[in-house]
Amino acid sequence: MKRIRIHHPGGPEVLTVEETPVPAPGPGQVLIKSEAGSLNHLDLWVRKGLPFTPYPLTPGSDCAGTVHACGRNVTRFKPGDRVVVSPGFGCRTCPHCLTGDDNLCRDYHIFGESADGLDAGFVTVDEHLVFLLPPEVSFSSAAAATLTYLTAWQMVADKGQVRPGDSVFVWGGSSGVGSAAIQIARHLGAVVYSAASTKEKREVALACGAEAVWDYKSGSVLSEVRALTGKRGVDLVIEHTGADTLGTSVQMTAKGGKIVTCGATTGWDARLDLRHIFFRQLSLLGSTMGRQDRLPIILNLMASGKLRPVIGRELSMWEIKSGHELLEGGQVAGKIVLIP
Ligand SMILES: [Zn+2]
Repeated sequence: MKRIRIHHPGGPEVLTVEETPVPAPGPGQVLIKSEAGSLNHLDLWVRKGLPFTPYPLTPGSDCAGTVHACGRNVTRFKPGDRVVVSPGFGCRTCPHCLTGDDNLCRDYHIFGESADGLDAGFVTVDEHLVFLLPPEVSFSSAAAATLTYLTAWQMVADKGQVRPGDSVFVWGGSSGVGSAAIQIARHLGAVVYSAASTKEKREVALACGAEAVWDYKSGSVLSEVRALTGKRGVDLVIEHTGADTLGTSVQMTAKGGKIVTCGATTGWDARLDLRHIFFRQLSLLGSTMGRQDRLPIILNLMASGKLRPVIGRELSMWEIKSGHELLEGGQVAGKIVLIP
């Protein structure tokens, strides 16, 4: 079988395709024939070099496929089952893991980041990290959704606590997390505004359910949001862009509102005017990934058509270098799916 391998950090040229034997599933493990993976911004960080990434490693946090074989003691699956893999996992024994907050575990890992990933023809995965894929959900949709929808679900539903009638602003409305956040906020009954850089990307955000979408380079996003909310601002801002946008996010948040951040694609050293935080009683909340038990909820909402991942491009997994260049250049509206 083939797998992607990164031996040391660098540009897209460090992404190599290697031939390796199909692994055998150990006790409690499922061998999955991958039918789809996908690219996340995390893949770019891993390729460029993260301090806690063990190189060499196989990248990839998303995988949907078919059960090919089961190891000893596997009880929930049989060969032929359509499945999807949880992108992250905890230790299963600490207080956080035992209460379901696995993504707060001190020993939490994400496939393709701090643990070997899923961009391969076949992968072996512990049974408890595997979920049955509803028949209505395609492999590509599932692979496009696991990391991004889990991330967006925690931001919008768990941390943002969005309720019907709330107003939500989402940066990068065509990105994986952005488009997922728009759909989830709409599903929970919110009015959603967004911003994106190109006309094509703004159309994606509108199709996801945003009420209005602006060009974030135009400089008028703040005044537009204020105008549409009667100068009040929004209840929740979904931040994953960082340095370029945090100041505006703070200014557009209504009194008592929340900003939830999960990333900093434009830089992490953002300036923050603390006066806005205390005088207007804003909450700035950090968020990474989501609880594993949210995955079945997301898959069921996908099966009923309430959540629909936006796929911008499907590429052969072995063309991953082109995928990285497209993602890095911001040239694709929606997710880049990798087909082995
Ligand atoms: Zn734990």
